[in-house]
Amino acid sequence: MYDFHMHTAFSDDGSATIDEMAEAAIAANLTGIAITDHLDPFYPDTEMPFMIEIDDYEKALTEAVPRYAGRLDIAAGIEIGMQSGPALEVCEETVSRFSYDFVIGSVHASKDKCIHLPEFTEGKTLGQIIEDYYTDLIECIKAYKNYDVLGHLNVIDRYAGGYAPVDVYLPYAEEALKIAIADGKGIEINTSSYRYGMGSRTTPTKEILDLYVSLGGEILTTGSDAHKPCDVGSDIEKGEQMILSSGLSYVCTYKNRTPVFHKIG
Ligand SMILES: [Zn+2]
Ligand SMILES: [Zn+2]
Repeated sequence: MYDFHMHTAFSDDGSATIDEMAEAAIAANLTGIAITDHLDPFYPDTEMPFMIEIDDYEKALTEAVPRYAGRLDIAAGIEIGMQSGPALEVCEETVSRFSYDFVIGSVHASKDKCIHLPEFTEGKTLGQIIEDYYTDLIECIKAYKNYDVLGHLNVIDRYAGGYAPVDVYLPYAEEALKIAIADGKGIEINTSSYRYGMGSRTTPTKEILDLYVSLGGEILTTGSDAHKPCDVGSDIEKGEQMILSSGLSYVCTYKNRTPVFHKIG
């Protein structure tokens, strides 16, 4: 099994070392992981600005990969926080300057507001929150292509104060998926939804996943979004079950920005 989304102390919201995450992955019998710390240019939260020490991060990745050769495949990854505007230029520059294996494109902030805080949601209907989140995501991926998979596509479900009905969110998700598929991008099964007690509201939802597959999408990664060692590999099996239930039978990892397909089930 593969866990292709996790954070270390290089992210403001993480505290573990790469070695601690890697050892946890070995203990969990994983075959491979991606370290995907946050790059969130112009993140609006000044208390947690997510300013990654990029030189140190790249050096740590370069050193860690060979250290685990034969025991654990480590992909050098990064999770970029896309926001329309100049943030995308910083993402482009940073992703281009290092030999990353894997880039997750996520939306954590929109129009200078953190989507997980009331500043993004208050005073809006559920429909407006959904519209604002997805509209910005679509704008980003129309303009920005230097990523491999869309991270936690429906993450707004965690923060919107309610689960929007399918007919409200799916048309936006469809537009995003069509762009992603046309660009050869994948989506991730982010298994943190199980840890956050979201029940059947998985990330992505069953409806988004089925739509991605019916539109011709084939690239699915699994990732726990662990921020501490005890969560490494958590519910990856459920993620694989989701893939199988969509009719696909491969999980992807990435090496040198290229998907590698692994048969599951
Ligand atoms: Zn994220
Ligand atoms: Zn993450």
